[in-house]
Amino acid sequence: MNGAVSSWDLSIGVDGPGTRFVLFTAGCPLRCQYCQNPETWRMRDGRQATTDEIMAEIGRYQRFISVAGGGVTISGGEPLLQPRFTAELLRRCHDGGLHTALDTSGLLGARADDAMLADTDLVLLDIKSFDPATYRRVTGGPVEPTLRFARRLAELGRPTWVRFVLVPGLTDAFENVDALARFVAALGNVERVDVLPFHRLATAKYARLGLRFPLADVPPPDQGLLDRVHRQFRDHGVVSI
Ligand code: SF4
Repeated sequence: MNGAVSSWDLSIGVDGPGTRFVLFTAGCPLRCQYCQNPETWRMRDGRQATTDEIMAEIGRYQRFISVAGGGVTISGGEPLLQPRFTAELLRRCHDGGLHTALDTSGLLGARADDAMLADTDLVLLDIKSFDPATYRRVTGGPVEPTLRFARRLAELGRPTWVRFVLVPGLTDAFENVDALARFVAALGNVERVDVLPFHRLATAKYARLGLRFPLADVPPPDQGLLDRVHRQFRDHGVVSI
C-alpha cells in the first residue's frame, strides 16, 4: 500500500518512550499557529512511499530501537488523514514486536477503528486547547472531535500521553489550563501530560517556504508560567512533564 510521507527520523524521549523511528506523514487538515512542520501540511508536497519500503527502513533500526526500549511513532502532518496506510504500518510494527505510538491531533479520531487502536501501544494526543474559541484560534478547527476521541480512548483503556503546547498569550489562560487538567484527570487512561514550551525554531523554515510565521513576535514561556501550568495539572493529580 502507498502513502504520502514527508520524512522520517530517529528521536529520543519526545515522541514516546525510548529511541524511536518517527515517520512524518504528509497532509494535515489543521493549520496550527505554532506548527513546527509546515512542510507536512499538504499531502501533495509529500512523496509516495509503500508500506514495504517504510518497513524495510524501520528494519534497519529495529535492533537498535528495541534494545533502547523504543519503538515506532507515526506522526505528521496528521496520520489519520491516511488511516489505511497508518493502520497497516501500526499493525506490521506491532506484529513484529515493536512498541507503537500514534501522534495525532484527534481531529480525525473517528477514522481510527478499534483494530487500529488495538495495534497502538500509546496514543500521543495533542490537545491544543480546551476552550473551543482558543482551540479554533490556535488551529483553525473545532476541539470537540478531539475531546470525543479522548473519551473513546479512555473507554477503550488505551494508554495515552496528552501534549499541550504552552504559548504565552494564546493557550496559557488559567481557566483554559484548569479545564483541560480537569478533563484529563477524569479520563483515567492518561499516563502523563507533556507541557511543551512554545519556541520559534521553525521561523527560518517558514521563511524558506515563503510563509509567514504568525507567532514570530511571541516569546517562549518563562519559568514562572511553566511552573504555574505544571502546578495546575499536578493539582488535579495529573503527571505533568
Ligand atoms: S496538527 Fe500538527 S502538523 Fe497539523 S498544523 Fe497542527 S502542529 Fe502542524
